[in-house]
Amino acid sequence: MTADILIRNVRPFGGQLSDLYIRDGWFAERGRQKAAVEIDGGGQIALPGLVEAHTHLDKTLVGMDWFENRVGPTRNERILADRRAKRELGIDARRQSMRQIMQTLAFGVMHVRSHVDVDTEIGIANIEGVVETRDKVKDLVDVQIVAFPQSGMLVREGTLALMEEAIKAGADIVGGIDPASIDRDPVRHLDAIFSLADRYQKPIDIHLHEPGDLGAFCLELILERTRALSLQGKVMVSHAYCLGMLDPQRQRSLIDALAAERIAVMTVGSPSAPALPLRVLLQSGVVMASGSDGIQGTWEPWGNGDMLERAKYLAQRNGMTNDADLKETAGICTFGGAEGIGLTHYGLLEGCRGDLVLVPARTLAEAVALTPQKRTVIRRGQVVARDGMLCGGPQHIG
Ligand SMILES: [Zn+2]
Repeated sequence: MTADILIRNVRPFGGQLSDLYIRDGWFAERGRQKAAVEIDGGGQIALPGLVEAHTHLDKTLVGMDWFENRVGPTRNERILADRRAKRELGIDARRQSMRQIMQTLAFGVMHVRSHVDVDTEIGIANIEGVVETRDKVKDLVDVQIVAFPQSGMLVREGTLALMEEAIKAGADIVGGIDPASIDRDPVRHLDAIFSLADRYQKPIDIHLHEPGDLGAFCLELILERTRALSLQGKVMVSHAYCLGMLDPQRQRSLIDALAAERIAVMTVGSPSAPALPLRVLLQSGVVMASGSDGIQGTWEPWGNGDMLERAKYLAQRNGMTNDADLKETAGICTFGGAEGIGLTHYGLLEGCRGDLVLVPARTLAEAVALTPQKRTVIRRGQVVARDGMLCGGPQHIG
């Protein structure tokens, strides 16, 4: 139970000035009584908790020494470097996940889906580390854990059994990766992960970097299996670069099928990968989510995990510049992400959980374009960050 709180003079998602009221951690109708705590929002933009729909909490180097990146450009070189770094740099999944979560909570990120490596070298140690963090921060941030076969699943014997162990150890979602180019057997890869998800009644989230026709073929296999197992609303495809590389007709039919099966697509708007047809996806009703992917890792040195900044990148990457466009990309980093990762009671309306971020800007577009840092973060009716600084609670570990 928390004291009730009244937040005056804010613009919910850039709308009209109004007051928001939270009672016992939920947005509620304001009665006549005086609220125990009152905050004057001064016309700031109120957003629901930002949604990080795709990151790698177990591999970030946040707070560690700078990693001098000499890794070659291919995916295999990066996977090898990634595995080596885990051994040599002593990347502790529990400590690093806590660091990233605390860093991004100050931006207002209150919902995080993280892929966490499972492989035959580390087993499920990273899963156990992030599960520990998830339990510690549950009052501040919702964390979902994807059991992720980064180094391949079928090509590394024993990985599938470890994925099942990961689920038993607390992973929430079954992951997958490039079923054709890494595992070289898309049907068997997808059958294996869909069957695991079906047995444990878990959602699925697949990294699909595969290009053009190969990616499209894998997407068709994903669509077939989603339909056959009635997993509508439970499957996310991360990256799906192929959608930006097809002829318009094939692109259109895949997008319509994704919308029909309610398969969400996560895009980070990476400048080094083909851009997705974001407008077509949105107009077609595909649930679009976004994420930071790895921040400050061995794959890429970029990123701070701010999902409002991600909304800006998405707009820049897709040539979206007007105010309505920026509202769309802010929507992807909030409501779209929430739907994509299956959150309930999300938003700023009565009956939703009392989570919000106040951003010092006059319009939503200004908030996205300028990404002001001095934000106030309220979680379940309690102020957890002011002026972009955490107020207290669990501190960085290690
Ligand atoms: Zn990823």
